[in-house]
Amino acid sequence: MTDRATELRAEGKDIISLSVGEPDFATPPHVIEAAKAALDAGDTKYTPVTGTMALKKAAALHFQRDLGIATDPSQVIVTAGGKQALFEAIVATVSHGDEVIVPSPWWVSYPQMVRFAGGTVVPLRTHAHRNFRFDPGEFEALITPSTNWLMLNSPGNPTGAVYPAEMLKGIGEVLRHHPQVMVLSDDIYAPLNYTDGPHATLANLCPDLADRICTVSGVSKSHAMTGFRIGVATGPKWLIDAMGKLQSNSSGNPASISQAAAVAAFEGPQDFLADWRERFRARRDMVVAAINAIPGLSTPVPDGAFYCFIDASELMDRFGGDDRKLALHLLDHGVAVVAASAFGGKNGFRISFATDEAVLEEAIRRIGAALA
Ligand code: PMP
Repeated sequence: MTDRATELRAEGKDIISLSVGEPDFATPPHVIEAAKAALDAGDTKYTPVTGTMALKKAAALHFQRDLGIATDPSQVIVTAGGKQALFEAIVATVSHGDEVIVPSPWWVSYPQMVRFAGGTVVPLRTHAHRNFRFDPGEFEALITPSTNWLMLNSPGNPTGAVYPAEMLKGIGEVLRHHPQVMVLSDDIYAPLNYTDGPHATLANLCPDLADRICTVSGVSKSHAMTGFRIGVATGPKWLIDAMGKLQSNSSGNPASISQAAAVAAFEGPQDFLADWRERFRARRDMVVAAINAIPGLSTPVPDGAFYCFIDASELMDRFGGDDRKLALHLLDHGVAVVAASAFGGKNGFRISFATDEAVLEEAIRRIGAALA
């Protein structure tokens, strides 16, 4: 898809990309200032491998203030993006024969991380008509003695699913009966929750299970800092230490300048987040209405993040049942999207609405024209 998009652009075609997973807003000025100040202060050398104490403290504040998770800087690791934290947690613990339950449609990297570590991916299928949520009983039915993780991602990529507190408490109840299972809770989209309730997360709701939960967060999505590459995770000390060993012998410390910027992100003003959330919510409403008005397409209302996972089952005969062909067809009509099958789904595609309103409108007009 990317190659074809590049080719088309090189031919002078105007391609709108709805395939990227990053906010279009500018990084907040106080974060930029902190990065510049770090450079000017000569903060350009190695830091402790698992992050500066200043950032671990700021991250602990973030976990407590924003996610309701009490933690200590000694149980926090700073990584090069949330992605590295997830990767390290999996690679540090999963080996051949282990099973990891991953709700699908999933974020593309989850199954790849599990496979890289030699584990087996056990899909937990979710469906649009239930807003891509699952019953705790469906999760329990997949548990075996070899299960060692459940991956949770709420608000979720690619579906925008948000797991309510009751559902998470039900998952907690299941976990109490299966002590071998841990939970990797990817809360990277936590501030982008459009429901009326506060963000719900397992380690807050079930503190008795805290030593079996690793919660991953960061600044990439919340503070429009994707290029800075900073993620944070908290969990049991043995796991955080194991992740640190991996980091020590692979990438080393996350960039010193980015760490200084992330301290400002966590400790500085947070008021812009409410404004961003409202703007994303307005875009979501516009996009959902416009997509559902196109014959053959349907999407539930995503409760969080900035993606719509669109079903095109009715149109799939035209593409030989292959949603990659559908995605290439849309690309030929000037819009880059990602096929549902890339996320373990089928018969559809994902769009990101982290794009300017006028551009979104034009993109959806093109999608409608391409499928007419
Ligand atoms: N988790 C999910 C669900 C994501 O969508 C992403 C980014 N696409 C990440 C983690 C990784 O974020 P980061 O850029 O901080 O590595």
